[in-house]
Amino acid sequence: MSISVAIVGSGPSGFYTAGELLRAVKGCQIDVIDRLPAPFGLVRYGIAPDHQSTKNVQRLFDKTARDTAVRYFGNVEIGKDVSLHELRACYDAVVLAVGAPLDRPLGVKGEDKLGVYGSAAFVGWYNGHPDFRHLDPLLDCRAAAVIGNGNVALDIARLLVRTRAELEASDMPDFAVDAIARSPLTDVYVFGRRGPMDAKFTIGELREMGELEDGVALVDAAQLPETLDGYSEEERRARARNIEIIKAWVPNRPAAKRKRVHFAFYASPVEVLGDARVRGLRLERTRVEGQRAVGTGQFFEVECGFVAAAIGYRSPVIAGAPFDEKQGLYINDDGRIGPGLYAVGWAMRGPTGVVGTNRADGKTVSAHIAADLKTASKPGRPAFQAKLAERAVRVVDYADWLKLEAAEVKNARPKAPRRKFVELEEVLRFLATAPSGA
Ligand code: NAP
Repeated sequence: MSISVAIVGSGPSGFYTAGELLRAVKGCQIDVIDRLPAPFGLVRYGIAPDHQSTKNVQRLFDKTARDTAVRYFGNVEIGKDVSLHELRACYDAVVLAVGAPLDRPLGVKGEDKLGVYGSAAFVGWYNGHPDFRHLDPLLDCRAAAVIGNGNVALDIARLLVRTRAELEASDMPDFAVDAIARSPLTDVYVFGRRGPMDAKFTIGELREMGELEDGVALVDAAQLPETLDGYSEEERRARARNIEIIKAWVPNRPAAKRKRVHFAFYASPVEVLGDARVRGLRLERTRVEGQRAVGTGQFFEVECGFVAAAIGYRSPVIAGAPFDEKQGLYINDDGRIGPGLYAVGWAMRGPTGVVGTNRADGKTVSAHIAADLKTASKPGRPAFQAKLAERAVRVVDYADWLKLEAAEVKNARPKAPRRKFVELEEVLRFLATAPSGA
């Protein structure tokens, strides 16, 4: 009997792990399970729709999915359709590759007002994630604030100022293209609680902010370091190019383009202002001491009708997986949670790193599985399939996905790579009528 492994989550960490397992555990049987019908997680629903080349990694995952040892089970939710306890009874090893799909709370007064969104929700909405189809974000305002100085903040700011033509060339769903293109937004503020040297932006993403068709990036020269003397060689190497890019924006004229992205550093949100609906943000000016932003006691306000908090994510609590509430991930030792239970990717180490970072996690955990499990002792796939059949779960398998994908590509807007199926009902309706083998 071959070793059976269930991977919960079909995003980058899940598929990299499947690929690594094929090499590390010869003859194993791998089932990749996802609660959504479509595979690839963050590649499909996290990477920005105007960054199609980053999504090319999907081809590698597609190759893994087609391996005869691998099976895809879409539209199956562990914790709902089948419990983690039951799953562990079926498989020799279970790997949690569920990512970190939940927003971290901002923790300031007023954050529950209408018009305030976490990045998981807003990014999910513009990427056609079924959970956020009906978010209908309030974009009927002239100014928006994005909190955070990471790449997700850049993604949101950039997409808010893109033109209709730019958005239409991406795989952003029609409803999101329309909502953004129709919005009267002219000004987006990106707030960092620390300085430009501390921002987590990467170079390519930052450079794009200076190349927008109808948006201009603005920054106050007084917030930029005059020299990089005093910073360690390592900090300089990591950040000098970012600072160079930001510095080049100093002479930009606000009226140069129709929309503006204002980068404001040393500003920490303390309150979301407004009645039921957000009408502004109150922020405290900060200074950086060591690695921390410290309040100065000076406050200022900015008017805005939309706020997106791009401040990081949490993994979901799953009954049976010990959870670190503070860090928002599963308690694990280098990917090992307990006998036969593992975590990879953001579920293992928190929401940091790029897509490729997950390959190393997959390698590590595959090596653990190879070392920990010498013989198979669980029934594997047939037992899991029996549970699904007993509960009449409509599994979307890889052949179904290939039909969906072909239809998405066929239905795309001109110049766009695909038009995504968004809601489960749409998917099931299509599959019910799609010719077999299509
Ligand atoms: P991130 O890079 O960790 O950035 C989070 C930002 O939020 C930081 O600037 C952090 O400031 C700030 N923050 C946290 N709590 C805050 C609070 N209470 N108030 C104000 N600011 C707060 O996270 P991310 O942008 O969500 O990205 C997640 C990962 O995905 C990153 O590794 C990122 O590089 C990656 N990603 C990559 C791409 C790409 O390659 N194109 C695109 C998107 C995402 P401090 O630094 O002061 O804590």
